[in-house]
Amino acid sequence: MADDRTVAILWFRRDLRLHDHPALLAAIEAADEVLPLFVIDPHLMSRGTPRSERLLASLAALGKDTRDTLVIRRGDPVEVVARVAKQAGARTVHVSRETTPYGRERDEAVEKALADDHRELVRTGSPYAIGPGTIVNGSDSPYKVFTPFSRAWRRHGAPEPAERPTRIPWHHGIRSDDLPEAKDVGDIEAGEAAARTRWKAFLENDLEGYKDGRERPDLDATSKLSAPLKYGEIHPRTLLADLASVTGVPTQDVETYETEIIWREFYADVLWHQPESAWHDLRPELGGLAYDSGTATDELVEAWKAGRTGYPIVDAGMRQLLELGWMHNRLRMITASFLTKDLHVWWPVGARHFLDHLLDGDLSSNNHGWQWVAGTGTDASPYFRVFNPVTQGKKFDPDGEYVRRWVPELAHLPGKAAHEPWDHEDGYEHDYPTRIVEHDEERKEALSRYERARR
Ligand code: FAD
Repeated sequence: MADDRTVAILWFRRDLRLHDHPALLAAIEAADEVLPLFVIDPHLMSRGTPRSERLLASLAALGKDTRDTLVIRRGDPVEVVARVAKQAGARTVHVSRETTPYGRERDEAVEKALADDHRELVRTGSPYAIGPGTIVNGSDSPYKVFTPFSRAWRRHGAPEPAERPTRIPWHHGIRSDDLPEAKDVGDIEAGEAAARTRWKAFLENDLEGYKDGRERPDLDATSKLSAPLKYGEIHPRTLLADLASVTGVPTQDVETYETEIIWREFYADVLWHQPESAWHDLRPELGGLAYDSGTATDELVEAWKAGRTGYPIVDAGMRQLLELGWMHNRLRMITASFLTKDLHVWWPVGARHFLDHLLDGDLSSNNHGWQWVAGTGTDASPYFRVFNPVTQGKKFDPDGEYVRRWVPELAHLPGKAAHEPWDHEDGYEHDYPTRIVEHDEERKEALSRYERARR
């Protein structure tokens, strides 16, 4: 009797949750039972990076949420998915639509392998509230700049979240490979339940005041949902629907959070339309910009990576990244500006380092975030934006708390003094490094390189 029951596969990728999951609903609709599958793809998974460890922790949580029916397989998805579908006798394999360059190509190949065996890949939903490629301007072209995109995005409006099914008929009985145990990945808990708890706590405690609080690395005032969003432990639709029903919080705070979600959507949209922008300059007119490389530059880059540039706010950010696998947004901008404009290094070098260390490392948000800072990206007037690491530090970490937390060599300097050890007699008494470059000079140099490249 059980043998007659039809099976559909739900192939999880960046959607490791059960709430608000349209592809799960489609799988339930398509067959009597749902077989949950995750493929550990060696192309995407390099063991040992914090991001991969974070993914393993999330899969462990998903395994429990799917009542130990989750089938883990290692290998090339093109072979693995077709093989498992055949083994389970599944006619359909359900996924959330993938929009990254590799994901799109992979899915087309999987779709073909399945079709060769008379099976179907069914795409429902995506990791975004409004799928990349949907928002276009009056002449059906993609938006190139954030503000008009965000206006059009708001006019379009995000769809309502999908219901969580009351009962999910999981399919038992297909063998799973063992899930490698995740190494410790810092203090961020993985899994859908943890993501929802974190979101609820943010709504209660930090949404009010978010507009200003989000600029302050010393305050811990942001939602820390970037890794949960990266793995789809929670969907942006859910966040947006909750925000729409919040009461008693100033509109500016609610709208600012929505805007941050729209940045995520924008960058995914840019990547969708221009897949090559992942690792190449978006703005061709800056193609001739001169960058530094070679042994001396490598040494400067190593100092930047290690948090030993001699600029306290830069070093604090880089050390937070190494320690937590997360860095505050303001610090991502300051440290990226330092690498590209003070050290004159091409942004992909920094983008790669970030992806190797961030738990939330995401191709579109990271690499376009880097291009935005470097001036090669989507922003219309990046030219004069060279972050001054000292004034930025004093403005956004006004009491020096954040610097002292991450740079113990400066812990003895009170208040703002932590941002300028060179102005204090005892500034270097705990072996804090001296500045590896002079910001004022490098700023001028960066601007003159931009001038030359634009001519
Ligand atoms: P919150 O302030 O709570 O924001 C809520 C959510 O909005 C975030 O979780 C994120 O999904 C989204 N968001 C916020 N700011 C941005 C932004 N500028 N661009 C895109 N989405 C945003 N974000 C990543 O998720 N992965 C990355 O790899 C990544 N790399 C970055 C690299 C650089 C150089 C820069 C400047 C930004 C990068 N960001 C990246 C964006 C941003 O810094 C992080 O999303 C944010 O710091 C995560 O913390 P949070 O969840 O507490 O943010």
